[in-house]
Amino acid sequence: MDTLVFHFPYGENPMSIDHSTRTQLIDSLEKFVRERLIPLEAIVEKEDRIPSDVVEEMKTMGLFGLSIPEEYGGLGFNMLDDVTVNIIFGHTTPPFSTIFGTNIGIGAQGIVIDGTEDQKKKYLPQMASGQIISAFAMTEPGSGSDAASLKTTAIKDGSHYVLNGTKRYITNAPEAGIFTVMARSDPKTPGSAGISAFIVERDSPGLS
Ligand SMILES: Cc1cc2nc3c(=O)[nH]c(=O)nc-3n(C[C@H](O)[C@H](O)[C@H](O)COP(=O)(O)OP(=O)(O)OC[C@H]3O[C@@H](n4cnc5c(N)ncnc54)[C@H](O)[C@@H]3O)c2cc1C
Repeated sequence: MDTLVFHFPYGENPMSIDHSTRTQLIDSLEKFVRERLIPLEAIVEKEDRIPSDVVEEMKTMGLFGLSIPEEYGGLGFNMLDDVTVNIIFGHTTPPFSTIFGTNIGIGAQGIVIDGTEDQKKKYLPQMASGQIISAFAMTEPGSGSDAASLKTTAIKDGSHYVLNGTKRYITNAPEAGIFTVMARSDPKTPGSAGISAFIVERDSPGLS
């Protein structure tokens, strides 16, 4: 196996987790990628899945909660830390970082940024530990680049909403326990202004 040399253009980042913890974690992630993940690339390619023991190791290392705030069970990484981790994982095949990257990225950030306190307390610790994996469902068969044209509807019915529509290309969909689903809650308002985000649990009636 070729020896990899990792270059980090970033110095100490005072706004992030403390320097020695960060250095230790980065060292262990480099080793993990080099010694554990890269040798598995051919297996991932052949079997089209990440071995479950590797996913469990990633959970133990905290990867599923990297940028989830510490108060909700994550490591509280900031953007710079996140970029550094992505550089490290850029040395191996993308599926390894996609499974946790989607979870802490588009899967979690809607709740981190705009969730209620109850939603944060309910979902983020489970996501940070990897107990549930999250996905973000925006793209539809007739709506990709022009995301604001999406057709999935969300109609209020008493105290809840009924969502109707089809999504596609949703990363983590087969494994996800919760989805942030973008749907048109105001049919009279075209474009993005009529769209809202909904947290949909996997066992919600009618989800397939
Ligand atoms: C690996 C992968 C993971 C994904 N994960 C997710 C996910 O987790 N959640 C989710 O919601 N979606 C996800 N997507 C979907 C992704 O966001 C869409 O594929 C993307 O928005 C493009 O939509 P489309 O595939 O329908 O292509 P289209 O929008 O139909 O575009 C087709 C082509 O036309 C070009 N084009 C489109 N409009 C214009 C224009 N006005 N002018 C010039 N050229 C144009 C595009 O550049 C492209 O080359 C994922 C896609 C991939 C490939």
